[in-house]
Amino acid sequence: MNELDSEIMVGILEKRGLQRTQDEENADLLIFNTCSIRDLAERKVMGKLGQLGRHSKRRSIIGVTGCMAMAKKESLFRKLPHVNFVIGTNNITDLNVVLDEVIETGKQSIRTNDQFEENLDYLVAKRDDPIKAYVSIIRGCDKFCTYCVVPYTRGQEVSRHPDSIVEECQLLVDKGYKEITLLGQNVNSYGKDKPEWNCLFHDLLYRLDNIKGLERVRFMTSHPVDITENLMYAIRDLPSVCEFVHFPLQAGSNRILRKMHRIYTVEKYLEKVDLLKKIVPNATLGTDIIVGFPTETEEEFQETYRLFEQINYSVAFIFAYSPRKGTPAMRWRDDIPEEVKQDRLQRLLQLHYQQAEKQRQEMLGSEVEVLVEKFNEDNQLLKARTRCWKNVLLPGDRSLVGTLQKVQLNGYSHQTFLAEIVKEKELLALAK
Ligand code: SF4
Repeated sequence: MNELDSEIMVGILEKRGLQRTQDEENADLLIFNTCSIRDLAERKVMGKLGQLGRHSKRRSIIGVTGCMAMAKKESLFRKLPHVNFVIGTNNITDLNVVLDEVIETGKQSIRTNDQFEENLDYLVAKRDDPIKAYVSIIRGCDKFCTYCVVPYTRGQEVSRHPDSIVEECQLLVDKGYKEITLLGQNVNSYGKDKPEWNCLFHDLLYRLDNIKGLERVRFMTSHPVDITENLMYAIRDLPSVCEFVHFPLQAGSNRILRKMHRIYTVEKYLEKVDLLKKIVPNATLGTDIIVGFPTETEEEFQETYRLFEQINYSVAFIFAYSPRKGTPAMRWRDDIPEEVKQDRLQRLLQLHYQQAEKQRQEMLGSEVEVLVEKFNEDNQLLKARTRCWKNVLLPGDRSLVGTLQKVQLNGYSHQTFLAEIVKEKELLALAK
């Protein structure tokens, strides 16, 4: 979501006549679009901003936007008096006004509304990638997991009108885009706040699948409670919708899930996973896991470990718990020693690597569809992705970029498959 917000801000500023530069030293304007989901991300930005303040000759305007701006608000001015403006996640639309205020008055300016107002010009976004695009469909989150700052930094859920989403997707396809990732803190809640639209998340997928030329639709991220049977049927039946579902478990112990306020039990979670596998047998799953949540015992960690082993995720983001200011969990003692958290993290990562290695072995020799995205860094091979989000490298020329190809997976290096296009192989055999 932050990447998309950055693209929108770049678009707004380019429309104003500014040009993007990599020259940090001489830039007239520096914007830090921040994330505060983890402590490390915040500390990095604060360090960098502090450094800038020590350059007394610097003339650039400095702005802080995004989740950290939203969480810290005016306190940023107190800590970093050289920061000229602060814009929260719900006020990107005000970027020009704020910039004018700073330039005209020389004073600091701030906008941090709690609620997102659906008046953002999404079409202005300046994207670098010509094949894949992010499209925002819902902002905010109403779930209030006890460890998470998002409901406080992004506000309540606000869905975007389906006509506006379809219009943007159609325009992107007209420009040559092949893959769209629908974004939201919880995409599966889409439309629930606007019953009058009569368009829930799966309805939106049906509408998007009608766009001719839109080859792939992905979405992130999901809350297990809102993954519905109707969504599973949409994944099964709609050719454009990829069979990869991010299904964040977070913990495998019911007591910890309750403490996290995840509003599902292990049993309910497994029921949904089983149903998804029944309806979409070729679906692959991704997850997020937090280890070392306050009071988590070794036995409770073992429950997470066993569940993780059983489900056999294809993608996993595993973190050691770190308390975030402003969340309910911050009030609890962070009582799991760092070395215990790291030990649990490493054990689970090890399991994930083993399972991923086994999955890669099993996939060898199979034929899959990939979308060719670009050349890799050394311009030798093409980079592509399978529908289930696996990276693939294959030989070929520039004309293949942006096309769907059927490839055979012949090997892998680290996490990336090495493949060859099937059709070319067949033609070669015929020619012989
Ligand atoms: S559902 Fe996701 S974004 Fe919302 S509060 Fe929970 S972890 Fe945060």
